[in-house]
Amino acid sequence: KKQSASSGNANNVKVVVRCRPMSDKELDNDHKEIVYVTETTGTIDVRPPHNVNDDGGKTFTFDYVFAPNSKQVDIYNLVARPIVDAVLEGYNGTIFAYGQTGTGKTFTMEGKKDDNKNYGIILNSFAHVFLEISKASNDVGYLVNVSYLEIYNEEIRDLLGKDRDKSLDIKERPNVGVYADGLSAHACHSATEMESLMRGGSYNRHTGQTLMNERSSRSHAIFTITIECSDTGPDGGKRIRVGKLHMVDLAGSERQSKSGAEGNTLKEATKINLSLSTLGNVISALVDGKSTHIPYRNSKLTRLLQDSLGGNSKTAMIANIGPADYNYDETLSTLRYANRAK
Ligand code: ADP
Ligand code: MG
Repeated sequence: KKQSASSGNANNVKVVVRCRPMSDKELDNDHKEIVYVTETTGTIDVRPPHNVNDDGGKTFTFDYVFAPNSKQVDIYNLVARPIVDAVLEGYNGTIFAYGQTGTGKTFTMEGKKDDNKNYGIILNSFAHVFLEISKASNDVGYLVNVSYLEIYNEEIRDLLGKDRDKSLDIKERPNVGVYADGLSAHACHSATEMESLMRGGSYNRHTGQTLMNERSSRSHAIFTITIECSDTGPDGGKRIRVGKLHMVDLAGSERQSKSGAEGNTLKEATKINLSLSTLGNVISALVDGKSTHIPYRNSKLTRLLQDSLGGNSKTAMIANIGPADYNYDETLSTLRYANRAK
């Protein structure tokens, strides 16, 4: 296995920010844009809205920043493509979409339905993977599998399995690593096949038994492509490389109001906060490179992705924000989270 000591991972972790355009509703309601994105310098300026008594603005710098008019394909080419290429070579990679509900996480990861100009990262990766496979020489064999799971309330469910109400346990085995026990894997031979699996799983995510639409903003969804490549080495022996790509649409990062939240809502909020803050801690510990302890075990999300975060794995965190004044606090909180992770 190619996992090396986890030191100096800064080059393997990219943190980028994407700001979505103003929505029609925001324009109709006369909301003001307070986020200024300068792609050439990688900076984001946030001005406080008029009703906040603070005249400073805040400036942040990231590996890449994407303005409201950025194209899906630009994000794919700059952020996702290098990771998918590495996965085809046998590395592991993880791409996260982080941010407040309504800022474009699902748009960035999946994209718009029936609109291939607006295909997001997951859909674009399918075509990319199968194009590369079609270019490979005949003596190289590929096996491609996909899985799709959801973590809701720290319980793991298979979005492509027969029993979607069954909660899966996390197990670990030497040579296999960490995995969700019983998660179904589906062999794929084309981008179309993958796309219909993804659509089925996403549909299942949105029609879960609890809270309907609400639930999708409170759960993490992990779409995983496993690519096994076999060929013949110079000594005539068979070589196998396995790369795994996880594409993660995270739960909404908005602060759940503490007053009023009770029972299940409070329990949910506490678990979301725990997993997102653990993810932030894991990534900043990896980037820092000096930490001897990486707190993977503090949440199911980081535990499941343990083999694909750190070491030689490639990671991208896409922090999504909205441009409007009324989201000032949440936008700053997302930018601070992203800033800490880089
Ligand atoms: P989230 O998954 O973070 O809750 P969505 O992806 O559902 O947010 O986006 C909320 C709305 O904004 C959707 O209608 C989506 O189509 C739209 N949207 C998000 N990002 C963009 C973008 N970059 N360009 C155009 N529309 C966008
Ligand atoms: Mg969403």
